[in-house]
Amino acid sequence: MLRPKFVWVYLLWSAGIAVAQAPDIPEPGSIQAIAAATTDPHFISPLVSYIPQSTTVPSPQKFFGRIMGAPGQLVGTEKAYAYARALAAATARVRVFTIGHSEEGREILLLAIADEPGIRDLDRLKAATAELADPRRTDQPTADKLISTSRPIYYFNAALHSDETGSTEAVLELAYRLAVSEQPMIQHIRQHLVVLINPISNPDGRDKMVDWFYRYLKGKTDRSSLPRQSPPYWSKYAFVDINRDTHQQTHETTKAVHRMFHEWHPTVVHDLHEGSPLMMTWNGTGPYNPNIDPITYTEFLQLSFREVEAMTAMGMPGVSTWNFGEA
Ligand SMILES: [Zn+2]
Repeated sequence: MLRPKFVWVYLLWSAGIAVAQAPDIPEPGSIQAIAAATTDPHFISPLVSYIPQSTTVPSPQKFFGRIMGAPGQLVGTEKAYAYARALAAATARVRVFTIGHSEEGREILLLAIADEPGIRDLDRLKAATAELADPRRTDQPTADKLISTSRPIYYFNAALHSDETGSTEAVLELAYRLAVSEQPMIQHIRQHLVVLINPISNPDGRDKMVDWFYRYLKGKTDRSSLPRQSPPYWSKYAFVDINRDTHQQTHETTKAVHRMFHEWHPTVVHDLHEGSPLMMTWNGTGPYNPNIDPITYTEFLQLSFREVEAMTAMGMPGVSTWNFGEA
């Protein structure tokens, strides 16, 4: 029998989940599967504690036969892209674009997600952000008008460092959630933003990592005799420093993201990484590029503090920000 204190905590927790879900109907079994795959209930956000049910758009469970992030499973490029295309085929809220090809010939795919008018007007919205991005040809009255009729564009970059494997799975689930959920916060995002998702920014590295995982690591627990936890290269002849290539742009991965940036002018670029098992939102403490407006750095801090506050308010322990990082 549960002790009263735990009953109270459980009731508050489940009430919070119900509020976060409404009016979505959870896909049967999704709450249990997510809870079972999460190491501690503290780390379950009510926003992602369930998968919204859809009768028209394939959920990850229907497409892959499992939840995203299921223990002992990693999705490779071919299946991930097939899922992105299945979403685009099933709903007018998702469109996919090819933004490049890797050194080994793999596609680099981008999903755009918004409500139906947002997807229909993508070209106009793109043109508006391009004008806003260039004060040499856009005066203040024109900018004000553009802002009132356009949308911020939010870009997620996943799986640049291929041994940091979680982000691809997370953003595929996010794409589905953004496309089908009728929860008020998600509706608001869909109606007011364009969300871009690059689920596998480094596809050569992803497939090397997935192959390595299934061949050498899956199901093995004897850490003293295991081979290294990732392949010798995290792409075609690139390792961790592939994210420093933004200066030189020698890799197709980097070139594709730069082309995306100059085509879409996203307001936020959110690059997803993993480190030690800590929850950190990394704003960086410099050195800062003096050519970028200080307001941009202030906004980095704002975003990070907002994330720390929101996750801490959900009861998650140890969420932090700060740390060295050049930008
Ligand atoms: Zn990383």
